[in-house]
Amino acid sequence: MPMRSCITCKSPEEEHRFLEPKEAAWLKKHLDLKNVDGFMVCLAPLDDGAKQCRNVRKYFVERPFREPLRLPEPE
Ligand SMILES: [Zn+2]
Repeated sequence: MPMRSCITCKSPEEEHRFLEPKEAAWLKKHLDLKNVDGFMVCLAPLDDGAKQCRNVRKYFVERPFREPLRLPEPE
């Protein structure tokens, strides 16, 4: 099983980046955490190519949550 596969988009080698400040703020509120350092968002393009997966993970833990958690789309 590839280390970096994303359970939401099923991409075996998707890239991730760390959260932007607005995203971190959303996630803190959503998870009721004070610190979301280490959380990353999946950048794999979805089917139509216009949107990204935006599935959240903590480091390279494949299933950090019971259900895949996606960041809301940027405004
Ligand atoms: Zn993904």
